[in-house]
Amino acid sequence: YIKIKDLYKTYSTQSAPLEVLKGINLTVRKGEILGIIGFSGAGKSTLARCINRLENPDRGEVYVNDIDILKLSKQELLKERRKIGMIFQTFNLFEAKTVYRNISYPLEISGASKAEIKKRVLETAELVGLSDKLTVYPGGLSGGQKQRVGIARALVNQPHLLLSDEATSALDPQTTLQILDLLKEINKATGITILMITHELDAIKYACERMAVLEDGRIIESGAVNDIFHNPHSRTGGLFAKVF
Ligand code: ATP
Ligand code: MG
Repeated sequence: YIKIKDLYKTYSTQSAPLEVLKGINLTVRKGEILGIIGFSGAGKSTLARCINRLENPDRGEVYVNDIDILKLSKQELLKERRKIGMIFQTFNLFEAKTVYRNISYPLEISGASKAEIKKRVLETAELVGLSDKLTVYPGGLSGGQKQRVGIARALVNQPHLLLSDEATSALDPQTTLQILDLLKEINKATGITILMITHELDAIKYACERMAVLEDGRIIESGAVNDIFHNPHSRTGGLFAKVF
């Protein structure tokens, strides 16, 4: 569903240019939840942002549903981006908007009718278990509830891909499990493909069948979660050891 070929990304910084992605090759299958794990600074967020082109890579190819994202015009990109939802560690909610308006925001900017917006917001709020919180502001929500708003906002346009960048990293273990359960449920119910970036091995073990390990801008290993856990590449083993 996602196919990434030889993807490079360099940031220009005040000192030397910083090459962060060094030839990424990765396939995410339709309908799966693929986990990506790596140390801080490995390039995980950069990779996610290159997939919806919030960041422009230097070179390479990024196919999402057979469309080469890097070749799209600005107009086409805006259209394709609506089919890609994204959630974040820090939730990135609008603090001055109610839960309803947070969720409806992507529909408002895409010019949907009021009736359509209402229908979709109510359905999506129901899906994530927030039907009774629609008039509340984010300040009045727990971390788990905030992430539910983030998930609802990401899903309200009915995307077929969800990019999850450390979505549970700010949550306690119990809330983490609830959010992972929700993502698994949504994946099962809608068939949405999920790319789950995390530094938490347990999250990958819990939610994913396949995973990839990102180290210093390269995928050093990918495959079935079970295989990698039982027989990790030597450098992946190091990653496991340091996490625990
Ligand atoms: P973390 O686990 O801490 O979120 P990450 O794997 O998501 O890390 P990235 O955020 O992709 O890593 O960053 C990779 C490297 O690129 C880091 O060294 C970071 O400092 C650098 N970097 C990220 N964004 C920029 C930017 N906009 N400009 C310059 N350097 C950046
Ligand atoms: Mg990151």
